[in-house]
Amino acid sequence: MPPETNPVPAFDVVVVGAGPAGSAAALEAARAGLSVALLERGPYPGAKNVYGGVVYGRILDELVPGWWEHMPVQRWVTRRSTMLLTDSQALTVDFRTEDWGRPPYNGATAFRAELDGWLASLAEAAGAVLVPSTTVTGLLRDAAGRVTGVRTDRPGGDLTARIVIACDGVNSFLAKEAGLFAQVPGKQAEHTSLGVKETLALPRKVIEERFGLTGRHGQDIEVLGCTGDIPGGGFLYTNLESVSVGVVLSVVGLAASGERPEAVLAGLKEHPAIAPLLRGAELKEYSAHLIPEGGYDSMPELVTDGMLVAGDAAAMCLAAGIWLEGVNYALGAGMYAGRSAAVAIAAGDTSRAGLTGYRRMLEESFVLADHRRLRRVPGLVFSERVQQSYPGLLCDVAQGFFTVDNPRPKPGLRRLLSGAARRRGVRLRHLLSDAFTGTRSFG
Ligand SMILES: Cc1cc2nc3c(=O)[nH]c(=O)nc-3n(C[C@H](O)[C@H](O)[C@H](O)COP(=O)(O)OP(=O)(O)OC[C@H]3O[C@@H](n4cnc5c(N)ncnc54)[C@H](O)[C@@H]3O)c2cc1C
Repeated sequence: MPPETNPVPAFDVVVVGAGPAGSAAALEAARAGLSVALLERGPYPGAKNVYGGVVYGRILDELVPGWWEHMPVQRWVTRRSTMLLTDSQALTVDFRTEDWGRPPYNGATAFRAELDGWLASLAEAAGAVLVPSTTVTGLLRDAAGRVTGVRTDRPGGDLTARIVIACDGVNSFLAKEAGLFAQVPGKQAEHTSLGVKETLALPRKVIEERFGLTGRHGQDIEVLGCTGDIPGGGFLYTNLESVSVGVVLSVVGLAASGERPEAVLAGLKEHPAIAPLLRGAELKEYSAHLIPEGGYDSMPELVTDGMLVAGDAAAMCLAAGIWLEGVNYALGAGMYAGRSAAVAIAAGDTSRAGLTGYRRMLEESFVLADHRRLRRVPGLVFSERVQQSYPGLLCDVAQGFFTVDNPRPKPGLRRLLSGAARRRGVRLRHLLSDAFTGTRSFG
C-alpha cells in the first residue's frame, strides 16, 4: 500500500472505547505528542462496564509509576482461594500473604466506574480529548480501503484520523467490519461466556470477620463445579462494604441447558459453603456482560491499514480456570497499541506493514506470551471432566482422607483416588492426559 495521501485528518489517533484498553492507548499516544480523541458510548467511562472486580496492576508500573498511591482501590487482595464444589461438598485451596498487603501490592478489588474514570482522566491529563455519550457506528475508508476514521451517532459525526485504535470490547463491531475476524475458526458464541454478577452490601465489620480480613486486606475466591451441566465457573470477591458474587457461563452451554443465568447464580449463592458468607447481604446491583474466553486461538488479526485492535475487542481476556484476568491484558495491549501508533506516524507509514511492530511488542510482552502458553487451557477448563468429574473426584478424596472411620484402618491415598475415580467415571488415561496438558500449560 502506498503511503497515505488523504487530506490532513482531524486527529492523529481516534481511540474507540474508554475501557482500560482504550484509556491506556489514548494515554500512551497522547504522551508521544499525538493529537488523540477518546470516544466512549457511555455518559462517562465505566458507566456500562462490568467485571468481577479484581485488578492485577503490575503493568501499571510501566504506565503509571507509583499507581497504587492514586488508583481508586476497594481492598488489596492478600488472600486468594480456589474452591471446588459438588452439591454437598467443598474443597478449598486457600493462600494468604502479608506481602501482598503492602507496596508494590499484587492485586486489588476496584469498582469499574472509579477505575475506568481514573484511567481516562490520566489520558485526558496527557492531552487526549475524551468524548463521552458518543457511539461509533462504523469505519471510514478511502478508495484504497484504508481505514481513515470513524462514523459516530452524532449529527455530522464523522471523525478522520491517521490511525483508529478499536478498543470497543467483546463485541467489537469495528474489528468485524474491518474483516479482522475472518480467519478465526468457529462461531463467536463458541468462544464467548456470559458473566452475571451481583453486588451485595454487607457492613465492613461483617466482611472482615467472615473473611478473616483486617484493614484494607481483601480475598478473592474462584469457584469450579458450581454451574451444573453448563461449562463455566464462579467467583466471590470482597470490596470495602460489599461483596461481588457471580458466575461465568459458556454461551453455547447456557443456550443448550435452557437454564436462566440468574438461577445458576442463585444456586451458587445457596451452596452451603457460600451461603454463610453472604447471609444478611442486601442486593445493590445486578449486571451481565459477555466475556471473550477463547484465548489465543480465537484472536483476530490485530492490524489492518490504518487500524489496530486491543483488549477484549481482540479476545485478549485470559480465562484459565484459576485466572480470570482481562483488565491487565487490556491495559498492556492498549499501551502497546498507543506506542505502535506513535512509531508508525513518526515513520509516516500507517499501513498494515507500518503497524506490524504492534504484534511484535505484544508477542514479546506478557500479553501474547501468556496467551500462547495457556492456549490449551480454555479447552481443558471447559471440558466435561474438569467441569463435572474432577471437582467431585477431589472432594471425594478429601472426604475419604479426612473421615475417621475406626475401627476400620485408614485407607491410603491411592485407594481413595482409584475408588473416587471409579465412582466419578474418570479414566486413568484421561487423568494422565489432562495432567500432561495442565503441566505443559501451567508448568
Ligand atoms: C462478569 C465478568 C467478570 C470479570 N472479572 C474480571 C476480573 O475480576 N478481573 C479482570 O481483570 N477482568 C475481568 N473480566 C474481564 C474484563 O472485564 C475485560 O477483559 C476488560 O474489561 C477488557 O477491557 P477493554 O478495555 O478491552 O474492554 P471494555 O472494558 O469492555 O471496554 C470497552 C469500552 O468500549 C465502549 N464501547 C463499545 N462499543 C463502542 C462504540 N461503538 N462506540 C463507543 N464506545 C464503545 C464501552 O462502553 C466500553 O467502555 C470480567 C468480565 C466479566 C464480564
